[in-house]
Amino acid sequence: MNDCIFCKIINGEIPSKTIHEDEFLKVMLDINPKTNGHLLVLPKTHYENLFDIDDNILLEIINYIRNNYNYLKERLNCEGLTIAQNNGYGQDVKHFHIHLIPRYNDDKIDLTKYEKTIDIDEIYNKLMD
Ligand code: 5GP
Ligand code: ZN
Repeated sequence: MNDCIFCKIINGEIPSKTIHEDEFLKVMLDINPKTNGHLLVLPKTHYENLFDIDDNILLEIINYIRNNYNYLKERLNCEGLTIAQNNGYGQDVKHFHIHLIPRYNDDKIDLTKYEKTIDIDEIYNKLMD
C-alpha cells in the first residue's frame, strides 16, 4: 500500500530497528515504547487487521512469538509479555501488527501512554549483540 508507513518500513524507505526479518514477517522496536523492548511483529504483506490477514501468515507470526518468548525474557530480563493487537478502534497504523510488551516487576504501565525516557538504541543493542 502506497501510503502505509509500515509498508514503507518493509520496503526500506523508512528506517527501523529490526531485530528479526524473514520471508513472511518483520520484528522491530516500537518508536514509542511502553516498556523496555516493546516490539511490533508485522507481516511483510499488507493486511489491515485480524479479520483479513492470511491464516498461514498469522500462524508464522504466532510461531515467531512462541518460539522467541524465552529468548526475549532472557535478553530483556523481563518477567513476562503482554500481547496486544488493535483492530479499527485504537489502531493508528492500519497494517496488521502485534505488540509484544515486555513486563517488569512493578512497571505499573499505562497501556494508553508511552514511556518517553526509554533509550531505544540501548535496548536494540541488548537484543542484537
Ligand atoms: P497501533 O495504535 O496501530 O496499535 O500501534 C501503532 C504503533 O506503531 C504505535 O505503538 C507506534 O508507536 C508505532 N509506530 C508508529 N510509527 C512508527 C514508525 O515509524 N516506526 C516504528 N518502529 N514504530 C512506529
Ligand atoms: Zn502496509
